[in-house]
Amino acid sequence: MDRFQPETSTPSKPKGKALTLVKKANKELRAKLETYIPAGDYGCIHCLTTLVLNYVPSGDAPPVSHCGFSNPTSSICDQCTDRKSVCDRPNAMLERDFSELMACISLAVEHVWDEDEGELTFSADDRLDIAKALKAYINEFVKSERDYRTHYKLTGSKTARKELVYNARKQVLAARHPMPARAYTDPELRKAWERLSLPALEFCDPGYAHLTLARRRYVTEFMAVIKRNYTKESVKETQEQLENLVRV
Ligand SMILES: [Zn+2]
Ligand SMILES: [Zn+2]
Repeated sequence: MDRFQPETSTPSKPKGKALTLVKKANKELRAKLETYIPAGDYGCIHCLTTLVLNYVPSGDAPPVSHCGFSNPTSSICDQCTDRKSVCDRPNAMLERDFSELMACISLAVEHVWDEDEGELTFSADDRLDIAKALKAYINEFVKSERDYRTHYKLTGSKTARKELVYNARKQVLAARHPMPARAYTDPELRKAWERLSLPALEFCDPGYAHLTLARRRYVTEFMAVIKRNYTKESVKETQEQLENLVRV
């Protein structure tokens, strides 16, 4: 064909290997979005497990799951995307246990690590104490979550899992307390109510005793560090903040 002639035929669509290359190029062109969820708000179970395996307690950095979603169109976190694995949240029947763990991480970051340079309240030893206790608590959560799934055979096919969780959730929803009217206008009350209404490990479940003990041990350690450093009034406020979010 004369190369100065305008091309009239429509280009044929890429197929096979060419199509794969086009798809790959499009994927790379897609805008990347930095959407890291704030510390302690979320963590898929795989990122939590990685955190427990890799985190060495130190005063320098808190144990925070870096479960991030830099691809705006994907519901699979970055680590799970790299590993080509399913990105699972912790089992829905442990939602309250999970939300308490996340609240504890957030509070530790807020009080102990998020300090202005130059006017540090907490010493390196205080931070280390919290980091160790928090790691032990996260470790116990990961173990309890795994034991729960194994015990109730929730590791099978996706459909079987969905059905079991759905039926259990229906019962939990049917039994939960009605939302107090004030919770519509009071976000703190709303948060507290939501957390109280979430399903959690029960006395008869595997992992219940260990996780409860781990949480209490952590809360005791956290409050001990707070008491060493805060005024009486601030200790009271922190205790209330904690009790709104976590069973102590
Ligand atoms: Zn993740
Ligand atoms: Zn994931």
